[in-house]
Amino acid sequence: MADLLSWGRYPHHPQHPQAVYWADDVAPALSGIVDSHATSLPYGMGRSYGDSCLAASNHVIMTQGMNRILAADWKTGVILAQAGLSFADIIQIALPRGWFLPVTPGTKYVSLGGAVANDVHGKNHHVMGTFGRHVLRLFLYRSDEGMLECSRQIRPNLFAATIGGLGLTGVIVAVEFQLRPVVTSNINQTSIRFGRLQDFFQLSASHDQSHEYTVAWVDCLATGQHAGRGHFIAGNHALKDEAPYSHTDLKLAPSKGFKMPFDPPFSLVNSLSLRAFNTLYYHRQLQERIDSRVNYDPFFYPLDGIKQWNRMYGRAGFQQYQCVIPEQDGQAVIAGIMQEIAKSGTGSFLAVLKQCGDIVSPGLLSFPLHGVSLALDFPQHDQKNTLLFNRLDALVHEAGGRLYPAKDAHMSAAHFQKAYPQWSTIEAIRDPKLLSQFWQRVTQ
Ligand SMILES: Cc1cc2nc3c(=O)[nH]c(=O)nc-3n(C[C@H](O)[C@H](O)[C@H](O)COP(=O)(O)OP(=O)(O)OC[C@H]3O[C@@H](n4cnc5c(N)ncnc54)[C@H](O)[C@@H]3O)c2cc1C
Repeated sequence: MADLLSWGRYPHHPQHPQAVYWADDVAPALSGIVDSHATSLPYGMGRSYGDSCLAASNHVIMTQGMNRILAADWKTGVILAQAGLSFADIIQIALPRGWFLPVTPGTKYVSLGGAVANDVHGKNHHVMGTFGRHVLRLFLYRSDEGMLECSRQIRPNLFAATIGGLGLTGVIVAVEFQLRPVVTSNINQTSIRFGRLQDFFQLSASHDQSHEYTVAWVDCLATGQHAGRGHFIAGNHALKDEAPYSHTDLKLAPSKGFKMPFDPPFSLVNSLSLRAFNTLYYHRQLQERIDSRVNYDPFFYPLDGIKQWNRMYGRAGFQQYQCVIPEQDGQAVIAGIMQEIAKSGTGSFLAVLKQCGDIVSPGLLSFPLHGVSLALDFPQHDQKNTLLFNRLDALVHEAGGRLYPAKDAHMSAAHFQKAYPQWSTIEAIRDPKLLSQFWQRVTQ
């Protein structure tokens, strides 16, 4: 099996995988790695951008083959599945039966175990909270205690530590969770072009009550009177009796897509291509508001249309910067951060803004806070990124915000420990044979 990287391909530390297919494979796989390399780490689909899915030993337990549904009740929408099952596969099986994921990130190529370990959030955070809120039970293998069941009633401390636990509390072998009902596979989408950052906050305030899904794309390079311009997207699952859309029943999206065929020697993303793309993208919508009916796939997963798009950044890879700023200072601090980014001339095709709600996350290290989250990608360039990230980190931490470990490859130990004070509880409960490069960097 080929060596693996994280999604940002930075840091470039190839991981040697040991594949597991059944729960019984996990104990021998882990002890096999540990005998020669001291520690390991579970690895799902490698959609974390930085080093949180990279083992300190560079030897991971690869769970993708552990991908079966073990039990499903299609009356209640409760599923028990192996942890390597992907969200893409869950949709294939559940959607034709009238069920959808309760919470989904911006890619469907994540495993159940990875979604739990990062307690992922989606465009409906203000209504549904994080994925961990919909998890009912976990089955976990620990090197010191063997196979354990945990839930809100059984071993609740281990349950809370494992949701958002970054793969450090044991190898999750199975997850029981609650799906949400749908009657069609489509979304009623409203797309509104806006000219200033403050418009985003007004649009969120006026749409979050009426729309389950809200998010915005912003042009991170626009300055002056155009600073913070973008497109606000709101959506709700479409209902069956909304004629004339009778063809919109529970149909899966066709599988198609372009694949980035090779690694260019340098990044195709640079200040020229970024500026051109962002300007074109902003002006692609001529009317200020468009209401349409769209399939769930382009609505939730626009980036999945180009397989391995991460290669576009060339061999050096890229880093994503995702922060969340508490509600009270959100607008001013995000304006300051975007000003710094625009000044730096670097940035990404898609900078994503999302208003997170006040639903408390169940995990000890869950990322979302009540406030506003900004995420964008930067081509890897050691000196430029370090200078810019230092300035952004100072703004984030002064405001009491934090960075998302699933996306991170640079956060300092001091910032992590201040922003996630429960880290020491995770360290106490950590499986001694599991250790990531991220955890080593921010705690040891
Ligand atoms: C295009 C794109 C869009 C994204 N959008 C969002 C978003 O909107 N919201 C969001 O929250 N995230 C988002 N992400 C991040 C992604 O959802 C998370 O990183 C997710 O956890 C990746 O799942 P994975 O299966 O690839 O896990 P990996 O990246 O392989 O691993 C993630 C963590 O889970 C642990 N892990 C994996 N499997 C297990 C297991 N069986 N037992 C215990 N621990 C395990 C690993 O050790 C690691 O710590 C996005 C990523 C991409 C590439």
